[in-house]
Amino acid sequence: MQGRRAQGYQVLRRHDAIQTQSKLHTENIMKTQLIKLTAICLATLALGACGGGGDGGSPLGSGGPQLVVDASGASSFNTTTLGTSLAGLPMESLSTAEKDSLLFMREEEKLAHDVYAQLDLRWGTSTRSFGNIANSEATHTEAVRQLLVRYSVADPTPTAAGQFQNPVLQGLYTQLTTAGAVSLGDALKVGAAIEEIDMVDINKAMLSIDNQDIALVYQNLLKGSRNHLRSFVGNLANLGITYVPQYMPVADYQLIITTPMERG
Ligand code: ZN
Ligand code: ZN
Repeated sequence: MQGRRAQGYQVLRRHDAIQTQSKLHTENIMKTQLIKLTAICLATLALGACGGGGDGGSPLGSGGPQLVVDASGASSFNTTTLGTSLAGLPMESLSTAEKDSLLFMREEEKLAHDVYAQLDLRWGTSTRSFGNIANSEATHTEAVRQLLVRYSVADPTPTAAGQFQNPVLQGLYTQLTTAGAVSLGDALKVGAAIEEIDMVDINKAMLSIDNQDIALVYQNLLKGSRNHLRSFVGNLANLGITYVPQYMPVADYQLIITTPMERG
């Protein structure tokens, strides 16, 4: 995991550099502050604050929630609703940090899908969780791909299962599928770890993202990951295993697992 953390640190430093540059420009500062407020508002809307809407918590809600949550907590994009919402947003210029993040998240969401699909083959007779959540992750990586299409960015992601352009993600795939093959408990811990890593990476990326369409998709990816984390941790509790967070701050983790599934 050392390499993974080191990479996250590099990404963070790059974001710091970008933010320092933007501080030279008052207009950019104003824009950043406005966007941060928007991001906070988007996050809070899920909890029913910020007013407006009235469509069940869909942030920029044209036609209802972008995310569909099933009884087990598996959270999938409604492609039609997402497409309508994205089409209603302005095209903004894509920064290098935003482009890099999209390419990375496209593969990181594919990693979640491919690992869960593999764990479903191993543990599918014991739990439907991996199969259901793998289906959700397919819609997550597809949502990021839609953003790449929207910005005309070529997508180098291999289509084959278990194959990744990014060597860190390729290494994680091997490591996580190997760990998850040992026991059902280990597999569920792998699931919780993937959701933690997703949230840490998206939250870091959000520091340098101001395009509304990317923010919309990422806020929903975060919501999906919170629900998936709740699901894996709940399944572990049913086995008598208490999950200990490995990547995110304990306070953030506790806030998630002590609050209910977020629907819609
Ligand atoms: Zn996901
Ligand atoms: Zn997930």
